[in-house]
Amino acid sequence: MAAFQTLDDLGDIAGKTALVRVDLNVPMAEAEVTDDTRLRAVAPTIRELSAKGAKILLLAHFGRPKGAKHSELSTSMVIDALTEILGREIMFVPEIAGAVVKQSIGILADGDVAVLENSRFYPGEEKNDPELAKAVAANGDIYVNDAFSAAHRAHVTTEALAHLLPAYAGRAMEAELKALEAALGEPEHPVAAVVGGAKVSTKLDVLTNLVRRVDHLIIGGGMANTFLAARGVKVGKSLCEHDLVETANGIFEAADAASCTIHLPYDVVVAEEFKANPPVRTVNVHEVSDNEMILDIGPAAVEALADVLKTCRTLVWNGPLGAFETPPFDAATVSLAQTAAALTREGSLTSVAGGGDTVAALAHAGAKDDFSFVSTAGGAFLEWMEGKALPGVEALKTQSRKQG
Ligand code: ADP
Ligand code: MG
Repeated sequence: MAAFQTLDDLGDIAGKTALVRVDLNVPMAEAEVTDDTRLRAVAPTIRELSAKGAKILLLAHFGRPKGAKHSELSTSMVIDALTEILGREIMFVPEIAGAVVKQSIGILADGDVAVLENSRFYPGEEKNDPELAKAVAANGDIYVNDAFSAAHRAHVTTEALAHLLPAYAGRAMEAELKALEAALGEPEHPVAAVVGGAKVSTKLDVLTNLVRRVDHLIIGGGMANTFLAARGVKVGKSLCEHDLVETANGIFEAADAASCTIHLPYDVVVAEEFKANPPVRTVNVHEVSDNEMILDIGPAAVEALADVLKTCRTLVWNGPLGAFETPPFDAATVSLAQTAAALTREGSLTSVAGGGDTVAALAHAGAKDDFSFVSTAGGAFLEWMEGKALPGVEALKTQSRKQG
């Protein structure tokens, strides 16, 4: 499928300068990185380019400075953590273009690494300004994009640079695109999708895209309540978007037309209060009382869904099946995640998942490491599930066409 170039396509880059877009946007507390997952993810690309003798200039955004300098949002904040992961010294360059960057390149030896300042300190970055792009590109020989998580943005460092320099997908980007292609591009059928989470309204485009692409659409979480309401179920005090009942009916119809089976729970776990370990009942969906709310799908539904997954070759998962942060409403998510993990281990299922809360839920279930691929990309992952073209990915493709 690779319509884009990867690091396998690099020629001799010894002594050349590589502008490498990475995701350094890690959570911090008291000037310490609290989760270095994203830094670890880009290490293989940096090491590979370094081993090939390139001078590596890392480009990244950090937080939302909105085009102005804020010292607490400087990319220099992550240098210590990145130094530790790479096991080598890293230079900090307080600009992304111009003479300061050029001088820094003169100081770097082949294989050395520098972090450039937060790209979003420059108003041109988020405007995809061609002048800023030219100025940044002037200091590089090649461009590598290893930040899938920023690929839904058409910014200078994610999009424009790919048109100005020979452009390559880094290893993390390549892995992400391969996994997503295997899950929804040209997947092995039958394909199941699990969509959960709080609200239908945030995932309408996801649902609309999926019914056309998958064989089984499993709906859980708060959003299942809206679909149950559309089927005439009384959902009591549950989170439910009653104004979207017609929309839900439209999705049922689209699914029918596309021969996609929609799975809704037939039993649910309900409570009168949303708190940890309250008195709960497990009931048929038609037995929810007015003063109760649905906070998880029930064990019979989970068992049936596990049987569906056993017949499938591919699974894509976004959104927890219940309010998993609050016990015992994590039960369905944990159980189905463990089933998916086991099927993946056995080799019968390719499983891809993404979404902030989904990643946390799979980790909580001890299932994350067994999934074929877990995306930490957030917004970019969702836009991909919506079937949208991502500007950062499209730009890499255009570039490789141009070069034949
Ligand atoms: P992601 O971040 O993986 O895309 P979402 O943000 O869409 O997922 O949804 C996650 C949230 O949905 C969680 O905070 C979870 O508690 C909530 N949720 C799931 N099921 C229910 C439910 N039945 N009632 C209320 N909230 C729910
Ligand atoms: Mg979320």
